[in-house]
Amino acid sequence: MLVFKFGGASVKNAEAVKNIVKILKLYKEKLVVVISAMAKTTNALEGLMSKYFNAEEGTAEALKQISDFHYEIVEELFPQKDHKIYKELSKLLEGLQNRISQPPSLNYDYDYDQIVSYGELLSTTIVAAYLQDEGIRARWMDVRLSLKSDDTYREGRINWELSTDMVQKNFVFSDDDILITQGFLASTVNNQTTTLGREGSDYTAAILAYILEAEKVVIWKDVPGVLNADPKWFDETELLSHLSYRDAIELAYYGASVIHPKTIQPLKQKGINLQVKSFLNPEKEGTLVADKDYDKLIPSFIFKMDQVLIFISPRDFSFIAEDNLALILEKFAKNGFRINLMQNSAVSFMVCVNNDQSRLPRVVRELEEYFQISWENSLELITIRYYDEETIARVLVNKEKILEQRSKETIQMVVKDLGPGV
Ligand code: ASP
Ligand code: MG
Repeated sequence: MLVFKFGGASVKNAEAVKNIVKILKLYKEKLVVVISAMAKTTNALEGLMSKYFNAEEGTAEALKQISDFHYEIVEELFPQKDHKIYKELSKLLEGLQNRISQPPSLNYDYDYDQIVSYGELLSTTIVAAYLQDEGIRARWMDVRLSLKSDDTYREGRINWELSTDMVQKNFVFSDDDILITQGFLASTVNNQTTTLGREGSDYTAAILAYILEAEKVVIWKDVPGVLNADPKWFDETELLSHLSYRDAIELAYYGASVIHPKTIQPLKQKGINLQVKSFLNPEKEGTLVADKDYDKLIPSFIFKMDQVLIFISPRDFSFIAEDNLALILEKFAKNGFRINLMQNSAVSFMVCVNNDQSRLPRVVRELEEYFQISWENSLELITIRYYDEETIARVLVNKEKILEQRSKETIQMVVKDLGPGV
């Protein structure tokens, strides 16, 4: 049995859904297929969510856009107007409509999960129906009935004991060749929907593979595999054809967006290989992540844009000592806000984070009760794994370096872009 994961780009339109059928037909094995929301639907739902929660105008319009986008795909995939998918789709969208007709709760993260989860419910419903029409014996599964998490909304932590029981009980192939389910979603013991953090569908695939002891996980992407840099920021990228689990974890941890950071750990524990392949060239091998030590790799670059560097210092010029640090870190952890890099000096502590407006203001407010806070916006965080001086010089062209941290294998630099004119 293999576990596949198809992300947003591989289900971005009707054409892409048809391409999935072609890929699935290449495999003889039983498959668990994990799917995330279509194209940029999660972003669209986030937009809807924040309008709804903040009682702003435009929720109806935002919902209509999401609805139109899915109807367009469905109309192309299912020309018969009386196909059962139309009822299923309208039922889901009605559920979403009902949600946003109620007043919001006081908990942003809770409401977020109840709303944003529709992306995966919609995509899997559409893809499952299409596979069935194509004669593939595929069964739609509600992953929330099997994957259980705590109630850390937007960052649900898996309850492994319960999830193992439920997944083993539910994810059973009877007459089916394919079990198709939602990435990114789980639910609490009270059946409240949770999500596992943005881009969490890879992690879902890894959890299911771990519990079901899959032979392999394949993540299907619109890139040839894991590259040594994001083609969005870099012209000359190279494919890393092999990675050890450790290298894959480190690259993901520092933000190589091709794999979600939590994905590797469960796979490593059971020695399950991970392949990252292109859905545009399914015959190509892509990247294999496995339990081996490969040769030293070429330098890999990871760019994180829109970073904020926060300077935290005790109001009374006392030292940044352990108790202060514990308090600071607790505020970040409690708010589920990830620190990308931290560094301390005697009288201040610096933290580099994503400019996440749904979390940052709250954390700053909480810290301000104890500390003097200042920050610098619009920075970039550059990480180079297996760096050398030449690659460092290359990425620093037209950048002002504000902070640097080096280990034997990795360098991280917080920089300010000076623009092309400088
Ligand atoms: N749809 C979710 C997101 O965009 C989960 C995922 O794609 O992995 O973050
Ligand atoms: Mg994704």
